[in-house]
Amino acid sequence: MQETPAEPAADGPAAEQAQAGKTTAAKKPPARKAPAKKAAAGTKTPAGKTPAKKTAAAKKAAPAKKAAPARKPESRVAMVRRARRINRELAELYPYAHPELDFTNPFELLVATVLSAQTTDLRVNQTTPRLFAACPTPEDMAAIPPEQLEELIRPTGFFRAKAKSLIGLSTALRDRFGGEVPGRLEDLVTLPGVGRKTANVVLGNAFGVPGITVDTHFGRLARRFGWTTAQDAEKVEADVAEIFPKSEWTMLSHRVVFHGRRVCHSRRPACGACPIAPLCPSYGEGETDPEKARKLLKYELGGQPGQRLKPPADYPGRPAPPLAAP
Ligand code: SF4
Repeated sequence: MQETPAEPAADGPAAEQAQAGKTTAAKKPPARKAPAKKAAAGTKTPAGKTPAKKTAAAKKAAPAKKAAPARKPESRVAMVRRARRINRELAELYPYAHPELDFTNPFELLVATVLSAQTTDLRVNQTTPRLFAACPTPEDMAAIPPEQLEELIRPTGFFRAKAKSLIGLSTALRDRFGGEVPGRLEDLVTLPGVGRKTANVVLGNAFGVPGITVDTHFGRLARRFGWTTAQDAEKVEADVAEIFPKSEWTMLSHRVVFHGRRVCHSRRPACGACPIAPLCPSYGEGETDPEKARKLLKYELGGQPGQRLKPPADYPGRPAPPLAAP
């Protein structure tokens, strides 16, 4: 990793714009991007009429559109400054950001993170109470018959492959690490089913080792924020690591993922209700109407239960419900 540059002083129009409105409601959107949405074929006009198609002659006669004034490309220093301001704004918005998996020790977090592949944290949290009651230690999980383990984790999907990973990693913990989860990335990634993302989650949240967790939400938002153009998770991690000091990595990951799950969704980001809109170059990718955007907010921001059955004490939302009986 390269040295993280010292944080520059906040100034400039973007910073002023951000300063002008604090993080409570949807701030005035930036004048950066005019989200000129093309009307779909057959779209009605406000008056309820279908617009007539332009003839070739009419197209020819139409005055040439003025080219939009070219935006000055953002310098690296300005991008870093804006990125760090986004982090601060997210910290104000989500002072209670936390991992959204229920766990009480490193082994439970490791198992829950492996189970979270291709499913929601909510579904994992609804599944693990029975699993951890049956297999509280790596020794127990290494010894359980595979079919029994598959049944216990079935609600999380891909249960055969996940059961194989869990038995493999529990056996490795028992035989190579004395039944303890190791606190080093190099060791964690040698465990079956454990990649860099899982290792970083465990290191950051069970061992206090700073780590950037690039899941689908983090990658999407880092690209929307202009922190990276990479699709590859390791490249995203490396790009973001150069922008922020190590001490911020773990909490930054939680804040960005919180924002991705609640506001900046994959398909329909709630731009019109987004408190960091003035700092976001992708404003306009989603719904900009404030009222419609507010309806897209999720979890505690949308008045719904969260993902954890046992959330931390400072979580302002409601706990998730247990798995409904079949
Ligand atoms: S894309 Fe929209 S919702 Fe996402 S951070 Fe930018 S302004 Fe907010």
